[in-house]
Amino acid sequence: MYSWFRGSRKFVLDKIPSNISGIGEIAYNLWFSWERLGRDLFFQINPSLWENVQHNPVKFLKKVKPEDLEKASKDPFYLQLYQKVMNKFEDYMKNTPENSSPVAYFSAEFGLHESLPIYSGGLGILAGDHLKAASDLGLSLVGMGLLYRYGYFTQRINGDGEQEAEYGYLHFHELPVIPVLNERGEEIIITVDLPDRIVYVKIWKVNVGRISLYLLDTDTGRNCRADRDITAQLYGGNRDTRIAQEIVLGIGGVKAFRALKINPAFWHINEGHSAFLCLERMREKIEGEGLCFKDAILNIRANTLFTTHTPVPAGHDVYSGEMIDYYFKNFYRGLKLSKEEFLKLGWDREQQKFNMTVLAFGFAHEVNGVSKLHGLVSQKMFGHFGRAEQDKVNIFHITNGVHVQSMMAEEIKILLDQYLSLEWRKAISLESSWLGVENIPEDILWLVHNNLKERMIYFIRWRIQMQRLRNYESAEKVAEVENFLEPRALTIGFARRFATYKRGLLIFRDLERLSKLISSEDRPLQIIFAGKAHPADHPGQKLIKDIINLADTLPFKGKVVFLENYDIKVARHLVQGVDIWLNTPRRPQEASGTSGMKASVNGVLHCSVLDGWWPEAYDGQNGFVIGQDKDYSSEEEQDKEDSQSLYQLLEEKIIPWYFDRNEAGVPHKWVEFMKNSIKTISPKFSAERMVKEYSFYYNEGIKRKNQMKMGK
Ligand SMILES: *Cc1c(COP(=O)(O)O)cnc(C)c1O
Repeated sequence: MYSWFRGSRKFVLDKIPSNISGIGEIAYNLWFSWERLGRDLFFQINPSLWENVQHNPVKFLKKVKPEDLEKASKDPFYLQLYQKVMNKFEDYMKNTPENSSPVAYFSAEFGLHESLPIYSGGLGILAGDHLKAASDLGLSLVGMGLLYRYGYFTQRINGDGEQEAEYGYLHFHELPVIPVLNERGEEIIITVDLPDRIVYVKIWKVNVGRISLYLLDTDTGRNCRADRDITAQLYGGNRDTRIAQEIVLGIGGVKAFRALKINPAFWHINEGHSAFLCLERMREKIEGEGLCFKDAILNIRANTLFTTHTPVPAGHDVYSGEMIDYYFKNFYRGLKLSKEEFLKLGWDREQQKFNMTVLAFGFAHEVNGVSKLHGLVSQKMFGHFGRAEQDKVNIFHITNGVHVQSMMAEEIKILLDQYLSLEWRKAISLESSWLGVENIPEDILWLVHNNLKERMIYFIRWRIQMQRLRNYESAEKVAEVENFLEPRALTIGFARRFATYKRGLLIFRDLERLSKLISSEDRPLQIIFAGKAHPADHPGQKLIKDIINLADTLPFKGKVVFLENYDIKVARHLVQGVDIWLNTPRRPQEASGTSGMKASVNGVLHCSVLDGWWPEAYDGQNGFVIGQDKDYSSEEEQDKEDSQSLYQLLEEKIIPWYFDRNEAGVPHKWVEFMKNSIKTISPKFSAERMVKEYSFYYNEGIKRKNQMKMGK
């Protein structure tokens, strides 16, 4: 057998016995990421292999012994499970919309499952959840992104407590991605122009339930080494890499749709990285349809929406005028535009740079922020972007949501199956679906929560031991981890990117006050940290190191832990297993935040500054608020007041309520809050609610566009 064949998808599919051939289809559909039954199909064949391949079903099928598959195919119990899963899958896939004019959703990152590490954090997971919810809703939508050869980095903490970035080579044939072929079975390759050369781009496809996500990849033998590396790393490389990536995503993305004969009826630009798509569409309008420059812009605007995701300036991509001129000279000349006319499309007068956010504003009929507060802040900061003075953009908001089915613990789902109407899984965003949460017996919810907590603690100890073994630490250092974290302690989770505005160290401001809480004999407290800092963000990495140093000294040892490599899997364990989810951004810099939503749907109480989504959700009975609903002029003052408020909250409410138990050992008031959290937050902050809101604007845009056509 040729070696390339062993690497092909056919190799994976051919080894499956024909009576269970459907598992090949399940392996290549991310449906398995939110449907436990789908994962069971692999787990049941070989549980330890399933763990070893990090829950990646394609890798599983590549590695599994043919005898194991053979055995499963003859096992009546397995066959019963198989039939059940296939029926469910077919039922789900039924009514997949047949539509050559879907909504096109562009994003530089998509976070769908831990086996596909092409996301860095919140933005990517939001994009992944958008696709999952669109699939659940049966929306006609397709995604466009990039397939990174080395993905985003794996975070390793070395023996000195420092972050190291590890870039693993992704073998695409071991991932649930499929090369897109034409009718003759050949790869579809598109081209993108860069100065003095052409870049060849391959197209891959990922099935996300009923939705197709297309990913572009420049790592093909037809490109020179440097161009093969354009799609090497998410947010990696230098400014030239970044602009080349954005050209491939934006311009290449439009060309890829044309090559695939997909004609999007609406264009959703998720953050500025993909905004060059407007330029390619403009070229099509001017060269292909003969529109003038001005009409082309109006035409594109009609069916385009732009979502901005951060008020932090560094989160908006900017390029110098010279750089844009270097990359786009041929492009604008071809359209008979002057350099000035072209630069004006993205010109940010304050920074004197070409700004991707400005570009997107100019081409979008609608621009939205991702929470109510963020919408207002963005209006103030960016309302003047990309338009003439009399034509300011009205920035509205659609608050983010999470794909509940992906982040809620299986045990909680099963509990809900018993106390809610069985249809709740199909009507997540319907508030009335959730009323039955009140009927869950308190002791049972408490028991389930504590089981999840214990599972998380074992997971964390195991991970930290593995880390210490890898770093050749002493036998004592490895053994002591057995005593880290105790199930009865009130457990706080803090996991997010280590950007300074998120204030990861806020809870350490008064070490003495915190030590008292941590060291309490009868009411102990413990804190779990996780999160990556971008490899170029040195202040962020310093924060991580500071936490790790504290965690290694008394009285924090074993009670404060830092868990390496925060990803979807770690997030799942934490948001399902801690008691309190802590969020301390410097208001108003957290556009929305979504990890608190993931915690809340599991009955983990959100304890947060009134920033991002939290002011919309907090009702006094479903979580906690740190500090006041106000803006500060000094950061020092803000940090001081917020930290004091946090200690006071812990001392006066959170700790007493958590440890105040009834005869059955249940903290009545706490569990009541847990129920309120699940009941009020799950429907309102679900990705299903979010995507429904977006689809209203999609439909409006499609109508507007059709009217425009008829007017012609
Ligand atoms: C949900 C999630 C995030 C985003 O969380 P924030 O609340 O925006 O900080 C980041 N990383 C991972 C792995 C997540 O699961």
